[in-house]
Amino acid sequence: MNKQFETDIGLEVHAELLTKSKIFCGCSTAFGMPPNTQVCPVCLGLPGSLPVLNRRAVELAILAGLATGCTIAKELKLDRKNYYYPDLPKGYQISQFDKPLCFDGGIEIETEHGKKRVRIERIHIEEDAGKLIHDRGDETLCDYNRCGVPLIEVVTKPDLRSADEAVSFVRALREILLFAGVSSCKMQEGALRCDVNLSVREMGEEALGERTEIKNLNSFQFIKKAILDEEARQRALVSQGERVVRETRRFDSILGKTFRMREKEEAADYRFFPEPDAFTVDVPCETVSLLQASLPALPDERRAQYVTEFGLSKKDANDLVSSKHISDVFDEAAKSAENKKTLASLFTTELFRLLPGEDALIPITPKHLAEVSNLLSGGELNSSSAKKLLSFLWEKDEDPKAVCLREDLLQISDERVIFELAQNVIDSAQKAVEDYRAGKKQAFQALLGMGMKISRGKANPILLTKKLTFLLENQQKDENR
Ligand code: ZN
Ligand code: MN
Repeated sequence: MNKQFETDIGLEVHAELLTKSKIFCGCSTAFGMPPNTQVCPVCLGLPGSLPVLNRRAVELAILAGLATGCTIAKELKLDRKNYYYPDLPKGYQISQFDKPLCFDGGIEIETEHGKKRVRIERIHIEEDAGKLIHDRGDETLCDYNRCGVPLIEVVTKPDLRSADEAVSFVRALREILLFAGVSSCKMQEGALRCDVNLSVREMGEEALGERTEIKNLNSFQFIKKAILDEEARQRALVSQGERVVRETRRFDSILGKTFRMREKEEAADYRFFPEPDAFTVDVPCETVSLLQASLPALPDERRAQYVTEFGLSKKDANDLVSSKHISDVFDEAAKSAENKKTLASLFTTELFRLLPGEDALIPITPKHLAEVSNLLSGGELNSSSAKKLLSFLWEKDEDPKAVCLREDLLQISDERVIFELAQNVIDSAQKAVEDYRAGKKQAFQALLGMGMKISRGKANPILLTKKLTFLLENQQKDENR
């Protein structure tokens, strides 16, 4: 007898905040420095040292809350979460327990059944722990550079029903945090990490099943694989009449399976208490309004504008928000581009091809990009010359019109010049002209091709087509008369 199951997934996403220094001391947060070179008595938890709160970390956490529709608390209350582990030299983590900085938000995600809102229970601020390095046989090394790097932890309600929905949520959240400038979200550097809480229940059952937590997944692929594996494991257990045990599990990316780490801790195990070394800080309404006003347009809003206002396809709109930089440059160029679709196609065809990597910057100013777009949409350039022009500007960003003149790229759209060109073609290609008049309409392509060749690719092809057609039709009438 096969039972039908549903899966309930809630996520805890940790994101490092984009501050230059740590949350309670002046140490640098730069990634990839030699081990234990960015530490001081505060982040090492030496006796007698005291934390000083980094204001920017709080601002970024508030921005994250605003960007995800959360309510912002009136004050920041910090709590001490006690546990012993070698990556935490203080023996406790400064975090938030009962009063998170941001709460009751949510974001929309794409699912196979359409759009869906996933509720965010809370976003709290906390400090990161160090990194343990286990690749030395029996030895474990501790690198405390990461101790005290500011984090937010985004906790969702158990609203996600599948691995695909979970991945879709993390993608959407990542996009929002990137556009809001809250985090680098570099998963390969551990700047975005995800814990998965997962339970299964029989279809139609209201109450959630017992859950397990899978720790520290740092790629979309690992999130997906870990969920699929754990979901299958729990379903098999329940099908056989066994019980899921509440526990913390880890994902082995080589074996593609989750394994039991330890029994799941309860909040009480951490002996939370208000952090005695840090005061509760007021969060003034004015600060929140200022931050709200500074929040740039988020990906969903930009996509909607591109489609409804600029008439772009969904595909192009999606491609243009693939990074905030690209979207910002496009928005700026769009202000002076007469035809937004022409501008968009310059981005999606030419610029994307020229960009060497994800983090690379477009070396052409938005103003110049708009000018190239206008030359193209105004008929002064054809698309192959526009491509050449962009390659020139990519190497050296100069005035586009000047480059066109210097490199002889402008399209010939002078009616008289094109008329003479068409006459010249017809006079010198008797065979093709006769074929055309005999009804072989494909001979026209040869005539057009010849005209383009004579003009070295610069003739306006639409105008040349018009003039050739005119001459072929009218001279034929003259002869018939
Ligand atoms: Zn420090
Ligand atoms: Mn946490």
